[in-house]
Amino acid sequence: MPPPENKVPPAKPTLLPLQRPVTSLWGVGAERAAQLARLEISTVEDLLLYRPRRYEDRRHFKKISELIKGEPATARGKIVALGLKRFRGGMKSVFEIILDDGSARLHCRWWNLPFMQNYFAQGDDVFVFGKLIETKPRTMDHPETEVIEGGEESFIHIARIAPVYSLTEGLPQRWLRGLIWHTLEKLETELDRDNAAQRRVSSLSGAALPSRGNAVRMIHFPEEMTDVEIARRRLALDEFVELQRQIQMRRKKFEAQARALPCGGDNRLMRPFLARLGFKLTEAQTRVLREIRADLGGAHPMRRLLQGDVGSGKTIVAACSALMAIESGHNVALMAPTEILAEQHFLNFQKWFGSLGVPVELQTGSRKSAKTGSAQTPMLFVGTHALFSSGFDLPKPGLVIIDEQHKFGVAQREQLVRKGNYPHVLVMTATPIPRTLGLTLYGDLDVSVIDEMPGGRGRLNTFVRATDKLPKVFDFIREKISAGRQAYVVYPRVEDSGGKELKAVVAEFENLKKNFTPFRVGLLHGKLSGREKEAVMADFRKNEIRVLLSTALIEVGVDVPNATVMLVENAERFGLAQLHQLRGRIGRGAHVSFCILISDAKTSEARQRLKILEETADGFKIAEADLKLRGPGELLGREQSGLPKFRFGNLAEDLDLIRQARELVKQMSQAS
Ligand code: ADP
Ligand code: MG
Repeated sequence: MPPPENKVPPAKPTLLPLQRPVTSLWGVGAERAAQLARLEISTVEDLLLYRPRRYEDRRHFKKISELIKGEPATARGKIVALGLKRFRGGMKSVFEIILDDGSARLHCRWWNLPFMQNYFAQGDDVFVFGKLIETKPRTMDHPETEVIEGGEESFIHIARIAPVYSLTEGLPQRWLRGLIWHTLEKLETELDRDNAAQRRVSSLSGAALPSRGNAVRMIHFPEEMTDVEIARRRLALDEFVELQRQIQMRRKKFEAQARALPCGGDNRLMRPFLARLGFKLTEAQTRVLREIRADLGGAHPMRRLLQGDVGSGKTIVAACSALMAIESGHNVALMAPTEILAEQHFLNFQKWFGSLGVPVELQTGSRKSAKTGSAQTPMLFVGTHALFSSGFDLPKPGLVIIDEQHKFGVAQREQLVRKGNYPHVLVMTATPIPRTLGLTLYGDLDVSVIDEMPGGRGRLNTFVRATDKLPKVFDFIREKISAGRQAYVVYPRVEDSGGKELKAVVAEFENLKKNFTPFRVGLLHGKLSGREKEAVMADFRKNEIRVLLSTALIEVGVDVPNATVMLVENAERFGLAQLHQLRGRIGRGAHVSFCILISDAKTSEARQRLKILEETADGFKIAEADLKLRGPGELLGREQSGLPKFRFGNLAEDLDLIRQARELVKQMSQAS
């Protein structure tokens, strides 16, 4: 029997100083660490990268006598009186301190926060930041305050531009500021040693940007307010470089292990397909197809993003790409985000491919058109993303086409295709992803853009109207229907789970039926079964349903060229990009189309926002405006995963940095 081993604790791997837990810092015990954890600070690096919420210029603060009503400002004074008053039998309270700086007195009040009295004492020297709400006497309610303590350390907090951090209960501003200051003193140089890529950024960007260590110091303790933005840009660049590095590493690894199936085709199906199409491809469509053909015949599996505004004709491009792979003897899968769209693609592709002898099969949760993979010849499978990711066994595809990808995350995309053996992948997105987001989200994809609309389209006019104009709008719609056209009425999604949404939509349905008799009105919402949805869409396509009331379901991809009116109720509840998508359902035929956005938006900001749609039809401009107004999460939908959280980078503003990062990483990988 082997002798019992000595119980030696396993050697801890030595962590780099920045990766150590905050408890490794002097003065940080378990309680402080728990507080910091609430701010998502667990390592030393987290602490150093914790971004101040704002700054206070404590070199020039105002005299109390100079404070102006309504303007936020910093002042400083000594507490000459303080007290807590209770009223309503102790239910309510107000705590007040009175500051004097020699020029005047300032009353600071806190309502119903009696514990505030624990933080102040007569004679304390205090900074206050807030707005005067009253001048006789000068009064601030709930200002931010910081008691100034003398001693050696006071230079960290006063007579400088001081950082002000978001805090959590029990964590004093002064303490956190001091901790960051001391940690920087000790470890600033570590920041420059940390990472080869970051050092590279420093050396390449030369004098234009500070070193990483310098930047971190500047973001906490700037000498001038202009330092803050300089430092932020440096740190943002590091974040973008890191992301691009990961993207490129993934791509390299992928290319090293994945061999491509030859899917370039020989035109024998494509030629008759294009001849029967009834229109000529636009130049943009032709160019994009050339790019795709090169990929499909290349050494590595295609990973390509096809961007094109709504109505630019991506479906035909998908069809031609599918034919190339099928000509080469491989199956193709086309995935759509909704059953309605899958059904529509199925009908279109059946029409197009049937005469070419190419079998097309539909696979959705509620419907399967045939027995899977019965044919010996290569074929096209159309289905929903959900179905393909839920274990449906796709017979070895050579090409996977994912329609309207922006609704889905990057991780989901790779999960969808991992089933096959590295098929070629074409991702099609209708929401024009602003370039900043495109480069980060889709940084590992090559990009093709259809930047031209097919000709022969009627004009599309957009109007924003208030609710009281609805009767007139209904008259207008009736006129168009009488002339043979069709209309969509879109009702916003109401965020509730109690079935209120359904009730509201059904009530609106009754209302529309009354308004549009004798014309038939259809209803489409998420609670319908796949079959019911299909039946409604089929009747709408046949022009038997003349007005289609729908929740935002209709948003993606639906193509009924005879529909020329779109009415959106409570339009302010939608994002701009989403409204642009919705509006893309019309303007698809030769007739003039009308998009009417109904909104009683109270704020001028909300109205301004909708006005953008009246003014431009350029999806890129709209998406960029949306990104600035609502942030990336809103634009991409809540499902969007895989987008990292940036501490310093701003996807809406930092296009130049994202570009620079891409360039830097490319240079680095070529050098190595
Ligand atoms: P999206 O890019 O939004 O998916 P679709 O592929 O649905 O757009 O195309 C919109 C409409 O334009 C369809 O009715 C389609 O048949 C038509 N279309 C596509 N390409 C052309 C073209 N080159 N010329 C004329 N019409 C076209
Ligand atoms: Mg489409």
